[in-house]
Amino acid sequence: MQPFSYTALPGKVIFGSGTLSKVAEEMKALGCSRALLLSTPQQVAQVEALRAQLGDLAAGLFAEAAMHTPVDVTERAMAAAKACGADCTVALGGGSTTGLGKAIAVRTDLPQIVIPTTYAGSEATPILGETKDGLKTTRRDMKILPEVIIYDVDLTLSLPVGMTVTSGMNGIAHAAEGLYAKDANPIITMIAEDGVRAIARSLPSIVADPHDKEARSDALYGAWACGVVLGAVGMSLHHKLCHTLGGTFDLPHAETHTVVLPHAMAYNAPAAPEAMTRLARAIGAPDAPQGLFDLAKSLGAPTSLRELGMPEEGLEKVIDLALANPYWNPRPLEREPMRKLLEDAFHGRRPAATA
Ligand code: NAD
Repeated sequence: MQPFSYTALPGKVIFGSGTLSKVAEEMKALGCSRALLLSTPQQVAQVEALRAQLGDLAAGLFAEAAMHTPVDVTERAMAAAKACGADCTVALGGGSTTGLGKAIAVRTDLPQIVIPTTYAGSEATPILGETKDGLKTTRRDMKILPEVIIYDVDLTLSLPVGMTVTSGMNGIAHAAEGLYAKDANPIITMIAEDGVRAIARSLPSIVADPHDKEARSDALYGAWACGVVLGAVGMSLHHKLCHTLGGTFDLPHAETHTVVLPHAMAYNAPAAPEAMTRLARAIGAPDAPQGLFDLAKSLGAPTSLRELGMPEEGLEKVIDLALANPYWNPRPLEREPMRKLLEDAFHGRRPAATA
């Protein structure tokens, strides 16, 4: 056993079907009685149903959460929190809505209850990415970590199949990079492998039947496990490239992760053989990078940066940015192999088998 250091993050997790009914109880356990409910405009119906259920415990509703947590939206939400005298937030939605709750919490320390409806995993991390004037910055602070997560599989049944697949691959990406993290430890490695397994085996069943509750429940469990990994250990080249691509070319978050992941794994495979063995085992394929590519493709996900709207002449800029301020990575970052990685991702080529 290698020496390691591990700090467990606090937080309460409730998982099941119909668990939305627990929000009032959890608010009271936190000593709160006036929640500001948060959602995107697309999930107003779900959050309105929660408001009706909470009655007087719902002091206000702010349904303008947006991708990448723009600071001007946060400022409006803060004004709404103040106007209704909120003593906690309840965020119902994907990573964008969770991000808004976190952005309020880091400024006010209001306790958060998060009800995730995608597989992004943000609810399990003390990390917040925000955008101001087109620039995305990321910070880590314990105030950002939500106090309570309520997973209700029923709310995920409406997640469109396309988003289900890319969001699931986004979850897998956290665990995949966690398997070779510099600060990896045996607990997180175990959680990472199990998280990948749960998502990889459930996605085909969900694509076949989006209302398969057993498969939806597996995927949601996997999303939590992968989020725990993201919150606990450092990410590497894959996340760096996705942040750079998303931030510079405004590419969609989960889709970008889906396209880049097999190629980032192919880049790192020679330097992380044990991680690749675990990853391949978890997805049930002989080769991890190829297995991830085949899984995404077979489920109808995008496989090329080109189809996401990336301009080909932008690839060099991504390499420059990734090299300028790199994250730790198991394999040294070198321009030529990185160019090959990005060209393969741009064209949607199947990665070569790991030697
Ligand atoms: P999202 O939250 O932007 O959701 C995409 C769309 O799907 C939204 O319109 C949303 O309302 C809708 N939607 C979500 N769940 C639904 C459901 N069950 N039924 C119907 N519609 C539903 O997408 P996302 O991929 O979950 O989150 C992406 C954001 O999260 C990015 O800004 C990313 O940076 C951030 N993120 C942060 C962390 C972190 O730890 N800080 C981790 C992962 C992602």
